[in-house]
Amino acid sequence: MNLGLQDKVVLVTGGSKGIGLGIIRSFIAEEAKVANVNRSETEGKQLEAEYASQGKECFFIQGDLTDTDACRNAVEQTLTRFGKIDVLVNNAGVNDGAGLDAGPEAFVESLKRNLVHYYAMVHYALDALKESKGCIINIGSKVCETGQGGTSGYAASKGGVNGLTREWAVDLAPKEVRVNAVLPAETWTPLYEKCLAAMPDPGAAKSEIEQLIPLGHRFTTIEELADMVVFLASPRSSHTTGQIIFVDGGYTHFDRKCTVPSDVSSFGAAAE
Ligand code: NAP
Repeated sequence: MNLGLQDKVVLVTGGSKGIGLGIIRSFIAEEAKVANVNRSETEGKQLEAEYASQGKECFFIQGDLTDTDACRNAVEQTLTRFGKIDVLVNNAGVNDGAGLDAGPEAFVESLKRNLVHYYAMVHYALDALKESKGCIINIGSKVCETGQGGTSGYAASKGGVNGLTREWAVDLAPKEVRVNAVLPAETWTPLYEKCLAAMPDPGAAKSEIEQLIPLGHRFTTIEELADMVVFLASPRSSHTTGQIIFVDGGYTHFDRKCTVPSDVSSFGAAAE
């Protein structure tokens, strides 16, 4: 399927690793031009050089998105380099464990790491997105639906991401700008691998988590997440807006019986 993304300009936050990196690779595979705003200069420049050697654009913009000036600068530099923005992917974030006991200041800092820059990026890119009749993809998390415990700031931020996705879809429909959210649950990233490596038995922990994922009892891959983002951003999704799409192998919504490896899994249809 030709997704029609050739020469579209895509601005991705947090694209140097994990899901963001997968998103960048999928867009460039579709011949889009990418700008990547990230903290680490080394990683961003390496990625830029890797694609430059193939005649492709992965323009690196250094910045910490908790600073709203960095958000404005990212938009300005993208426009200076490419002259337009067709797609904005708000992806950067961290499950930082600012829980109920952390206090109001830690809570606000968590909102800055996970929510405020989503708003700031859209605010600064607004004119460009209206001009291109572009689209916004927000990366959320299942945590806003399921809770996790001990992570109030992140849960509130991701709830905010869902709310803003609908709000902006309404705001921007008259300008033909589409806004959608893609929500991972358990996606296998280098960070996830590092977190599990700190556990007493990482292999056992990984398979316990896999049992909780109904479709295939495996983690979602970065590529599966990224491909949904690219499809939603493409003109092949031209009448899809305000949607919150879970790419999670059924983790968030399926009956818990799906994850039980016993006779209980087939019990209960008549009893409901
Ligand atoms: P990751 O591997 O840690 O990658 C995040 C990238 O964003 C990193 O390059 C990071 O840079 C960058 N970044 C984070 N905060 C930044 C900031 N303030 N300024 C500039 N760059 C920043 O994380 P991931 O797992 O791919 O997560 C990506 C998105 O998916 C997040 O919104 C996360 O909440 C969501 N998500 C992931 C999962 C999962 O299973 N992986 C599940 C649910 C939701 P540094 O290297 O400098 O930190």
